[in-house]
Amino acid sequence: MQYIGRFAPTPSGPLHVGSLLTALASYLDARAHRGQWLVRIEDLDSGRVVPGADTQILNTLERFGLYWDSSVLYQSHRSELYAEHLSRLAKLSQLYPCTCSRKSLAAFENDIYPGVCRLKSAATTLPHAVRIVMPDRVVELTDRIQGGRSYHLSQDVGDIILRRKDGYFAYHLAVVIDDHEQQITHVVRGCDLLGQTPIHWFLQECFGWSHPIYAHIPIVVDDQGRKLSKSKRAAGLDCKGRSALLCELLKVLLGRPLAMGAEHCSVQELMSVAVQQWSVNNIVKIQSVKVHKCADFC
Ligand SMILES: [Zn+2]
Repeated sequence: MQYIGRFAPTPSGPLHVGSLLTALASYLDARAHRGQWLVRIEDLDSGRVVPGADTQILNTLERFGLYWDSSVLYQSHRSELYAEHLSRLAKLSQLYPCTCSRKSLAAFENDIYPGVCRLKSAATTLPHAVRIVMPDRVVELTDRIQGGRSYHLSQDVGDIILRRKDGYFAYHLAVVIDDHEQQITHVVRGCDLLGQTPIHWFLQECFGWSHPIYAHIPIVVDDQGRKLSKSKRAAGLDCKGRSALLCELLKVLLGRPLAMGAEHCSVQELMSVAVQQWSVNNIVKIQSVKVHKCADFC
């Protein structure tokens, strides 16, 4: 089986240290398997898209030696495909309109939607989201880093939205369709998405598709333990000190520091050493990590 991996950033701002760590991990895993590495821009929600951020992200990837194969795929160009698959899903599974307001949804514990609109008529004329009924059963997943996990679909996940009230297709639907269409065999991404994997697993089952192999790496947090992208340190990477920053990130991914003086090597030299030393087994089974001195770089 030919390995095909991917990195799928949302262009809501420039790449930051946290997303660079994910990009790096998925790239190294692909290259160490002599596989392909694709880039997909997840720009479905135009409200979150910052004009020009996609180009900025791609430029940063290149400056860090992360060269992708094939052309970059934009989700915003694929609405027709998502619509077709949503109709297909409507025949295969139980979908229903949800007219709940944002305010009434806020009342549900842990954001798990208990299915209050399940019994409403499918032909509502009110603005509505489209949800899928999560069955009353457990899915068991094996993550290459985090190990075995089991999730009860209706209790731990709840009926999720596939098309939002504003007409946008949900991330979960798009990501599953794109991973299938791009024949992605391996997904390496941040641990903040670990809890969403059962949703993707279930949708893949609904379509009758095989599952990619997942690996969830620790996410980068600041000193207060907040995900970097949500905090002040999420400034874009200015590319001074690239090699020194790469050394810090590779220390996290390779489980040990590179040789003395590595920060004086070129980005290309560091990447070639990293591909040789890469093993998913070196990544610690933790969900978050602080990257020392990262504030000096961003
Ligand atoms: Zn509802």
